[in-house]
Amino acid sequence: MDLETANYIVTYYRSMLSEKEDAALRHLQSIEKLEGIENRDKFEKAFRESNWLSNDPNVLNLLNGSKNDFILNTAKRILKDNQEKVLLNNCPNCGKLARTPQAKQCRFCGNDWH
Ligand SMILES: [Zn+2]
Repeated sequence: MDLETANYIVTYYRSMLSEKEDAALRHLQSIEKLEGIENRDKFEKAFRESNWLSNDPNVLNLLNGSKNDFILNTAKRILKDNQEKVLLNNCPNCGKLARTPQAKQCRFCGNDWH
């Protein structure tokens, strides 16, 4: 699976994430939000208090590798467990993945299947 497909699955099928995967993703996204902001300590404390940043070793364990590893592993797991529910919206013309499951226009070849 390529990273683009993995990101698509994790983004559009987020409800299929397990509780721990969801917490791990929220943790990653919170770290990204904290990068480069002022008063980081204050925000970090607030993020921890609202559980956006996790202290759970089982959650942090999922993030041992790179962010991309986590996204790829999670997307593969979702696809394996929900094969019939995940729609990979591939362009009927060039076969590449559309931007969203609902898209009816290809961002690569411009094909329109409305
Ligand atoms: Zn196309």
